[in-house]
Amino acid sequence: MQPTTTPVLKDIVLVGAGHAHVGVLRMFGMKPIPGLRLTLITREVNTPYSGMLPGMIAGSYTAEEAHIDTGPLAVFAGARLYHDEATGVDLDAKRVLCRNRPPVPYDLLSLDIGSTPSHGDAAGVEAHAIPVKPIDGFLQRFEAARQRVLAARGKAVIAVVGAGAGGVELMLALHKRLTEEVARAKLDPSTLSFRLIASHAELLPAFPKRMRQHVAETLRKRGVEIVAGQRVVECAPGGLKLASGRRVSANEVFWTTQAMPPAWLRESGLALDERGFIRVAGTLQSVSHPDVFAAGDVASMDYAPRPKSGVFAVRQGAPLAKNLRRRIAARPLAIYRAQRDAMYLLSTADGRAVGTRNGIVFEGSWVWRWKDAIDRRFMEKFNNLPEMRPAAPKAPFGIADGDALKEISAMAMRCGGCGAKVGATVLSAALRAIVPSERDDVVVGLDAPDDAAIVDTGGPELSVHTVDYFRAIVDDPYLFGKIAANHALGDIYAMGGAPQSALAIVTVPYGREAKVEADLAMMMTGANEVLREANCALVGGHTSEGAELALGFSVNGRVARDKALRKGGLTPGDALILTKPIGTGSLLAAHMRGKAKSRWTMGAIGHMMRSNRDAASVLLAHGVHAATDVTGFGLIGHLVEMMRPSNVDAVLALSAIPVLEGLKETLAMGIFSSLQPQNVRLRRAIVNLDEAGRNPLFPALFDPQTAGGLLASVPVASAKACVAALQSAGYADAAVIGEVLPRSASLASITIDLEDVSQRDDVNGKRPTKLGKLNAAGEEQNANEPVS
Ligand SMILES: Cc1cc2nc3c(=O)[nH]c(=O)nc-3n(C[C@H](O)[C@H](O)[C@H](O)COP(=O)(O)OP(=O)(O)OC[C@H]3O[C@@H](n4cnc5c(N)ncnc54)[C@H](O)[C@@H]3O)c2cc1C
Repeated sequence: MQPTTTPVLKDIVLVGAGHAHVGVLRMFGMKPIPGLRLTLITREVNTPYSGMLPGMIAGSYTAEEAHIDTGPLAVFAGARLYHDEATGVDLDAKRVLCRNRPPVPYDLLSLDIGSTPSHGDAAGVEAHAIPVKPIDGFLQRFEAARQRVLAARGKAVIAVVGAGAGGVELMLALHKRLTEEVARAKLDPSTLSFRLIASHAELLPAFPKRMRQHVAETLRKRGVEIVAGQRVVECAPGGLKLASGRRVSANEVFWTTQAMPPAWLRESGLALDERGFIRVAGTLQSVSHPDVFAAGDVASMDYAPRPKSGVFAVRQGAPLAKNLRRRIAARPLAIYRAQRDAMYLLSTADGRAVGTRNGIVFEGSWVWRWKDAIDRRFMEKFNNLPEMRPAAPKAPFGIADGDALKEISAMAMRCGGCGAKVGATVLSAALRAIVPSERDDVVVGLDAPDDAAIVDTGGPELSVHTVDYFRAIVDDPYLFGKIAANHALGDIYAMGGAPQSALAIVTVPYGREAKVEADLAMMMTGANEVLREANCALVGGHTSEGAELALGFSVNGRVARDKALRKGGLTPGDALILTKPIGTGSLLAAHMRGKAKSRWTMGAIGHMMRSNRDAASVLLAHGVHAATDVTGFGLIGHLVEMMRPSNVDAVLALSAIPVLEGLKETLAMGIFSSLQPQNVRLRRAIVNLDEAGRNPLFPALFDPQTAGGLLASVPVASAKACVAALQSAGYADAAVIGEVLPRSASLASITIDLEDVSQRDDVNGKRPTKLGKLNAAGEEQNANEPVS
């Protein structure tokens, strides 16, 4: 979450991370406008660059090379990234309707959502063909087709319907890739057949004659059959029916015909052209709604029609950014003068390319090298963004103290979520002198702290109380609401309880009433969805203004008198089970700095939204002796909290501990949560610190978690079944990560087993069988453990 001191005055919402919008984001990142908030709604967080797409199919580029990661780009632009799909737009209320979240309000809206290939009047396309757009779906279906071709031992007919630039390049790329793959599988590639079906009499009707001839000749040389001047009217399993009545066989059909607009635009109320694309003026504004802009394939420039091509979409980025800026500032807009002729470079998938500009055609390996250099340079601009630097801190009262400046700067980058927690040591020191009123009905209080407090209110059940509150960790209030609610419920589940009611504590940054209301509504909708699912009634709360968006809950729950799960029940011989992977602290810190891949951030968010409810039930069903939820103090901190009252030692197998994707990379970059240094103080409990400390994964043990999983002590006899049950309940990464040992000295100590345990045949294939020797004692930890 990017800290901001300026209230939000205007919202620009960008829908689709198309070629123009990625340029817009970059430009706003280079020159932000105070008070302006950008939001990107995108169906795919990794957006494909069309220039490299055929090369990726051909195997010349990796998926990573051919995609722009919108996560770091959004961070760079200071934009909120909503991973969602727009399904409509309410032009009167100025809101974008989304598939998976409440409507998103805008002051200005810009649409760069591309196109899909038209089915025309052909039947069966949806069921039996693979459309090249949307690309996310295409890549998955291409992969399935590739597998089928190999399973058929290369005996397959591959057809591409549509012979524009995209279709031709795709055909050549498919030919190269599949021929190579079949040969690599030691099969005969000559059993593969390729067919290109064109409705026009010639391929590439919009291109110069020499280029058409060159491409047709190249296809013939590769053995591709060209079926020209034939419209497909039906696509069925095993083949295609053409308008002439002819049938052609085809096992895999790729569909790349003329572009068609997204269907939902028809209902939007925007002025559309006869094919359904958004009509825009020279300013790239909708001709009917000046607060709506459009660019790329989806825009139809009445005044200067151009082919649907990535080249034009890229070019529109700069004028679109300029006009969005001007419109926000109520300044006159500039007219975009689309180039009449663009240069086209088509790869022939053999280390050569053919190109044309102003009617001139050129071909050769140098053309491919040139195209490759242009495409890589383009991608470099997005995948290698300038370093994010927080604004240079100003010395208070003009004192130029270097250390003070560094400290202020570090504070500015402090993490939200559980990374924003006060460290265990600070907290226990602060609470040391606090003596709460003594009451008989307090079953679990500050004197024997646990995940939640327990109070006896009479009756068969005990009352469980917990509170959690933290600054926003993601720029998406709806998801943040879900994470905050899930995190707060975690303490109740960790006590073996069931939630009953919750009070919300909310801080919203100062801003215009409408903006504050929209954010609050979005955040509380997300939170309430989680609470409702947990059968926990939201019964009230308190809201105030503050510097940053923050949310917390005080949750009440119920637990049967003899069922409360305590931290203090670790039993020697038990297996230690962790239900979710760790790593949210470092990954979210990396996200803040624009250093985390979207895939990593989305993975972490997915785990933070996963409830611990079912995990607690599984653990209870397998005779769990003790449990806690792993949150701000990290795995070691929470384990130590359990070990002290249990009077035991423990061994942890480092290689068995599940970690989130990307954690190894963010640790290697030296990116840690701002709470990490405080958590690391507990390293004193580790016996083999010198040796363990050299392992690159060692810092993960101290990484603060937000909405982390449960750490539990389970009888070894039921550990294997317990892990299997957790995995089938959806905790795919659940694993035995260590073992509880009898106390060997006066102070609790942890041994880190550094052997790679993945090959061992034991409880879950990962559990350590050889226990480390406990020969030295850790230092005494905090005297007064806080309730987390
Ligand atoms: C095989 C093939 C090869 C091609 N090769 C080239 C080439 O070499 N050069 C060239 O210039 N052109 C090429 N093209 C054409 C090019 O792909 C398109 O013209 C170009 O991608 C259009 O860019 P855009 O910005 O309009 O949309 P896109 O690049 O399609 O981006 C649209 C984005 O919006 C997102 N989106 C869509 N709907 C929604 C929604 N409802 N909510 C949220 N997000 C949404 C999508 O996920 C996508 O990320 C090729 C096309 C194909 C099929």
